[in-house]
Amino acid sequence: MISYSRQDITDADIDAVTAVLRSDFLTQGPAVPRFEQAVAVKVGARFGVAVNSATSALHLACRALDLGPGDWLWTSPNTFVASANCARYCGAKVDFIDIDPRTYNLSVEALTAKLAQAEKTGRLPKIVIPVHFAGQPSDMVGIAELSRQYGFRIIEDAAHAIGARYGDEPVGNCRYSDITVFSFHPVKIITTGEGGLATTNDPALAERMARLRSHGITRDPARMHGEPVGPWDYQQIELGFNYRMTDIQAALGASQLQRLEAYIARRHALADRYDRLLADLPVRTPYRDPHHRSALHLYPIQVGTERRGIFLDLRQAGIGVNVHYIPVHMQPDYQVFGFKRGDFPNAEHYYSNAISLPLFPTMTEEQQDHIVNSLYTAVHSRRLWSALG
Ligand SMILES: *Cc1c(COP(=O)(O)O)cnc(C)c1O
Repeated sequence: MISYSRQDITDADIDAVTAVLRSDFLTQGPAVPRFEQAVAVKVGARFGVAVNSATSALHLACRALDLGPGDWLWTSPNTFVASANCARYCGAKVDFIDIDPRTYNLSVEALTAKLAQAEKTGRLPKIVIPVHFAGQPSDMVGIAELSRQYGFRIIEDAAHAIGARYGDEPVGNCRYSDITVFSFHPVKIITTGEGGLATTNDPALAERMARLRSHGITRDPARMHGEPVGPWDYQQIELGFNYRMTDIQAALGASQLQRLEAYIARRHALADRYDRLLADLPVRTPYRDPHHRSALHLYPIQVGTERRGIFLDLRQAGIGVNVHYIPVHMQPDYQVFGFKRGDFPNAEHYYSNAISLPLFPTMTEEQQDHIVNSLYTAVHSRRLWSALG
C-alpha cells in the first residue's frame, strides 16, 4: 500500500536519537530548547515552545490568550477536529467560517460578513484560527485587518505548513498573528514521532505557554507568591498540564529540520508532475497561489460525483488515498451545538468530491505513475458505469 503520506527517517536521524538515549537526559534536557531555537530561527519568530502535539499547542495557545467560558472561537470547517476542539477544552464555544472554493482556506469574504453579523448580536469571536490547508497560507493580511477592526486574536494552525511562505516571509514568523502552531506527527512535513510547537514574538505568551506545558509551575522567584521558602521552592501558580516534548523527540525534530527545504522542493516537484500528468483527466487539481509558497502537505483533488467508487478502486489498487476533511461541524460530537448539513456549503461541497492523492518526499516517480494510471482507470470506468446507469 502506498500511504497518503509517510515519514522519512535517515541514519542521521537515528544517530541523533541514539545520542540522546546514551545521554543523561531523556526529557527536560538540552535538546528541547535547542530544537525550539532552531525552529524559531528557521521561521523567523522570537520564541518557540515545543510540546507533545499540535493539539496540545493549540490548547496552550488558547489558554495563553485567556480563552474561557462564554468566549467564541472561530475556525475553518475544512480542518482536522483539533483546530476546533481546543476551544472546547477551554470551555469556549466554536463556530465556523465557510471556505473559499478556490483555495479551500477560510474565506475572508465570509469572515467579513459573519463578523458584521456577530457584532449586532454581541457574539464576536475572541480568537480566529485560520488553517493553512494542505500547506497553502491563508489570506493573513485580510484576516489581520479584520482583527484590528473587531479586536479578535489570531492563532495560525500551520500543522500543514512548516516551510511554507506567505509572500516572501516564512509561515510561523507571526507577523499577522499572535501565535502559530506546527505539528510533527509522522504524516506531516517533518516529524518528532508525536509533537508540536508554538511560535510567537510575545515574551509573555511564550512564558505562559511554557509554564502551562509543565503543570503551571514556576521556579522563578519573580513569579512566586511571596518570597521563596528556600532554593528548592517551586510554585504552581495556575492549573497547567504535562504537555512536554521529550529530548528524544526534539533531537529527531532538529535532525529532520535540516532537510526541510529539500522536502518542500521534492513535494513541489512531485506536485508539478501530478499537475502535468492529470491535466487530461476530468478532475480538479489543487490551486496554488502564485504569490505564496505552499508547503504542499497534501495534494487534494476534486473528482466529482463518483468519489466513492474512485476511492474504492484506488484503495483496491494498493493506493492509500484519504479524504481531507470531513467538515468538523458534520461530526456527531458537534451536532449537539446545533450544526447541520448545509451550514457551510462550500466546505461540504468540497468534501463530497475530495480525494487526497499520496504525496511525500520519498515517493518515487514509478509509484506516482502507478497512482496516476490507477486514477485514469478508476475515473474512466466509474464514469462509464454511471453513464450506463
Ligand atoms: C494534524 C493536525 C493537527 C493536530 O496535530 P497533532 O500534532 O496530531 O496533534 C491540528 N490541525 C491540523 C490542521 C492538522 O492537520
